[in-house]
Amino acid sequence: MGLNVVILGPPGAGKGTQAERLAARFGVPRISTGDLLRDAVSAGTPLGELVKAVMARGELVGDDLMVEVVRERLARPDAAEGFVLDGFPRTTAQAETLERLVDGRGALTVVELVVPEEELVRRLSVRRVCGACGINADPGREAGSACARCGAQLVQRTDDRADVVRERLRVFGRQTQPLVEFYRRRGWHRTVDGTQTPDAVAAELAAAVAGQRA
Ligand SMILES: [Zn+2]
Repeated sequence: MGLNVVILGPPGAGKGTQAERLAARFGVPRISTGDLLRDAVSAGTPLGELVKAVMARGELVGDDLMVEVVRERLARPDAAEGFVLDGFPRTTAQAETLERLVDGRGALTVVELVVPEEELVRRLSVRRVCGACGINADPGREAGSACARCGAQLVQRTDDRADVVRERLRVFGRQTQPLVEFYRRRGWHRTVDGTQTPDAVAAELAAAVAGQRA
């Protein structure tokens, strides 16, 4: 049976990093929605052309199209043994569709990284990203210093300011709560304390996933 994992968590919870580590540990692809859309566009498939047109108009990719992109990605050979999804599903409608997509591939494990709001605000307010290549800088780097990858200047994202962060977290909570409830009712929902060190989070996450498989 495959390792089918969905990672949930608010901005700043370390979801991307942990999804990457978990995927590497179990030898399955990490599938993030951002990467999915970029891949679809660069692959130049008919579906990719559709996505490109939507993004060129500055619109958000709708539910139906997003589901098609995920369906195409999960059908690729490297996802045959499983996947770690990060950023999808976002709605209960998408969650229901995902259930159909993975039908026959084994259980779905949903792990939520839980971090209190105050800690998220603190983490995001000190986060610096590269203004050119967009990677997150190592903790403690100041705005204006050089990106370790490309040498461009590090900046604070305007949506990482404390007041904006609180609003982002409120919106995220409103959108995600129904999804959490959906998975709780299914009995597939696990939580991991995201305030621990990255290594401890990774270990607990791996244990939660392995426990579900057993
Ligand atoms: Zn850079």
